[in-house]
Amino acid sequence: MPTVPQDPFDWTDDAARLRAEAGLVRVLRPRPADTALLDLAGNDYLGLTRRPEVTEAAASAARRWGAGATGSRLVTGSTELHAELERELAGFCGFEAALVFSSGYAANLAALTALSAHGSLIVSDAGNHASIVDGCRLSRAETAVVAHADPEAVAKTLDAHPGRRALLVSDSVFSVDGDAAPLADFADVCRAHGAALVVDDAHGFGVLGEGGRGALHAAGLAGAAGVVATLTLSKSLGSQGGAVLGPARVIEHLVNAARTFIFDTGLAPAAVGAALASLRVLRREPGLADRVRIVARTLHGRLTEAGLTSARPDAAVVSVQAPAPEAAVRWAADCRAAGLAVGCFRPPSVPDGISRIRLTARADLTDQQIRTAVATILETAPKG
Ligand code: PMP
Repeated sequence: MPTVPQDPFDWTDDAARLRAEAGLVRVLRPRPADTALLDLAGNDYLGLTRRPEVTEAAASAARRWGAGATGSRLVTGSTELHAELERELAGFCGFEAALVFSSGYAANLAALTALSAHGSLIVSDAGNHASIVDGCRLSRAETAVVAHADPEAVAKTLDAHPGRRALLVSDSVFSVDGDAAPLADFADVCRAHGAALVVDDAHGFGVLGEGGRGALHAAGLAGAAGVVATLTLSKSLGSQGGAVLGPARVIEHLVNAARTFIFDTGLAPAAVGAALASLRVLRREPGLADRVRIVARTLHGRLTEAGLTSARPDAAVVSVQAPAPEAAVRWAADCRAAGLAVGCFRPPSVPDGISRIRLTARADLTDQQIRTAVATILETAPKG
């Protein structure tokens, strides 16, 4: 007879040991409300999460509509505020319609599962975000992962499946290196093959395109036939939640078919109110989008001048190579000890095995803060 474990979760100890041996232990570090930490790790690209008019809009939406949405969007969870945000998001980004979800993650799952089917094909860029990977897995479609940012690889894959219903999914800006996808070429390939194009604009919305209208707007693809965008409300808009933007009939289909819309509680009114307020700030202050790109390029320029290896940022994400995984972990920890929060990427969460620290630019960083951040990164850089 096999031995019965004492506790059905004993196996988690083995998993913990394997993580420790691989140096992959994750630690939760609660952030105090009033922190002296200079934050180049978060995704508050436009510096809106603490704007008084945004936090006040969150509070007033909660007072008016309640702390929670109370139910699925199809039952009691849709408020006039949700509809207002959907109209304004679609209008701002240049799409016919929009649908708001409880997260960007849920929006990606919705788009990929509802717009594919058993027997259809999803072509997915190798650098895509985990929520896209999971959306492909949850869909019943066949998924072909293709080389990163490679329209020819996409064309070859689509050529191999003539007449099949297909969609190409790609991040607009990739979260590890901050590089932008060749969206115009992707769109040409999709058009030539009758395939749909689904773009996750989590890192492009608010940063790229005229006044931050996003990567698809920048590429002249906003509102184009066969094109769908997914967004998060948690980065440039400094709130929480996600959205899918596209043709009205596609959005109507999602309302009826997307399980993360139907079976998930609607986005909390406070998050809707905050996102709407941020969107209005962005419309009023289009310079915010320009500023975040300038900050990113300034960070990149100064680090490159100092001899560090950093890919030129297309949007707000600045990625700096570290010589080894342990060095990346130590570098990020030393930055934090010196008052600077940066992200840390190392195997196995990087597809190319190259370890990096990652900085995210913010529109509200002062020149002094940029100088301080660069000085801290250089002082703590691995030697040799
Ligand atoms: N897509 C990308 C590219 C992301 O970086 C993220 C967030 N890390 C998401 C989707 C998920 O968005 P959310 O955090 O709103 O679930």
